[in-house]
Amino acid sequence: MSFNSLGLSAELLDAIEDQGYSEPTPIQRKAIPVILQHRDVMASAQTGTGKTAAFTLPLLQRLSADPGSRRGRPVRALVLTPTRELAAQVGASVETYGRHLPLKSAVIFGGVKINPQIDKLRRGVDILVATPGRLLDHAGQRTLDLSRVEILVLDEADRMLDMGFIHDIRKVLALLPDNGTRQNLLFSATFSSEIKALAGRLLDHPELIEVARRNTTAEGIQQRVHPVDKARKRELLSQLIGTRNWRQVLVFTRTKHGANRLAQQLERDGLSAAAIHGNKSQGARTRALAGFKNGDVRVLVATDIAARGLDIDQLPHVVNYELPNVPEDYVHRIGRTGRAGNAGEAISLVCVDEHKLLRDIERLLKRPIPQQVLAGYEPDPSIQAEPIQQGRGRGGRSQPRGQNPGRAQGKPAAKRTAGGRGKPGSTPARRKQTGSEAKPRHNRRAGGGPQEGSRQRHGRPGRGRQRADLLGGSRD
Ligand code: AMP
Repeated sequence: MSFNSLGLSAELLDAIEDQGYSEPTPIQRKAIPVILQHRDVMASAQTGTGKTAAFTLPLLQRLSADPGSRRGRPVRALVLTPTRELAAQVGASVETYGRHLPLKSAVIFGGVKINPQIDKLRRGVDILVATPGRLLDHAGQRTLDLSRVEILVLDEADRMLDMGFIHDIRKVLALLPDNGTRQNLLFSATFSSEIKALAGRLLDHPELIEVARRNTTAEGIQQRVHPVDKARKRELLSQLIGTRNWRQVLVFTRTKHGANRLAQQLERDGLSAAAIHGNKSQGARTRALAGFKNGDVRVLVATDIAARGLDIDQLPHVVNYELPNVPEDYVHRIGRTGRAGNAGEAISLVCVDEHKLLRDIERLLKRPIPQQVLAGYEPDPSIQAEPIQQGRGRGGRSQPRGQNPGRAQGKPAAKRTAGGRGKPGSTPARRKQTGSEAKPRHNRRAGGGPQEGSRQRHGRPGRGRQRADLLGGSRD
């Protein structure tokens, strides 16, 4: 099937051709015709399936086909995303696919100056991509009028709820016109009861669209576990990158501190590397990502949250330097490679401490991941498993949402050998907001600056915890 049969305009088909896409992905095949009919949509699709184009292309077509009232150039389409990175990526897609159309778009998120955004909004914007917190800042300052929005997209809605944005979403909805003609599109990797409740309030007789989940269809991704001692992981990683001549590798660590340290060590090994995580400024993250995309940075070391939603075309290699505490994060991580039908390789360096985490991941995938011990890196059988360090007190704060590490990892080993690790099984009392996420409104500090406030202390821990238990995932 080609894009020609989906009913898209010549300008959009040209933009698709510019991108070199030969045929629509399953979510695009299903969603584009339905959205063009002005129907509401509830779609389950993860990052990497081509979902951005699935809503962006028909959205652009709708707006360009009906110029509407240009008076004041009101925002006519609003896309809400959970993270700054995802907002930037969706914004870039809107620009890319809309390049032959006379529509204007803008991206707004927190952690950067607000005045340039105000200027841009004042000049008029047809399509606005935003994280909820900064959007509400603009609405509060009356620098943004959402009263003429015709199309609303909630992208990665499950992540938005997971990150505590439900109040912000409700506030945003209250700013939209209530004339019954708005088209609403909800994209989510999962359909939990909370997502269904939100959809029930928001969507009018939606078309339900489901495409296969990545944890059942990772065929394009070659997965492999290399058992190795923890102390030798860095050496093995450098060797793999060097001897296999990997030019672009995304490496996951559990903690921000671990990401920094590993990036520095790789640099010392002569590999250009950068770390990306929630403690880095927006500028530093943007620079690291740009360097990684253009080939200046060969190894990008990331924590889970920072990497969420990253869209790097045809990323060939993902390495789990440390397995995630929450099995679902493994699926998100390896989803960075093998995107939209491309081949990819996902390597996990697994030490004895992580065997329980590996079993949990394999249970989720419903199949074992092939293992290969590499010559010279055979694990030392005399090394005993130790509890997974959570990074607290050493600069890193990675921990599973609403879970204590003991639960995520199973019972900590009864006896610890010496080795100066962090506190075993220390239970984080609160969740840390990362810089890559916009902040939920009800806990944001006055002024909406880039500080990272803690949410659990002031927020609604009960509900947050419930979400966390439902969806899993880890924050950095
Ligand atoms: P997304 O799921 O929206 O994050 O898209 C994942 C990646 O797939 C992006 O790099 C897109 O550029 C790419 N992509 C989207 N649609 C197609 C298509 N029809 N054919 C090939 N690649 C695509």
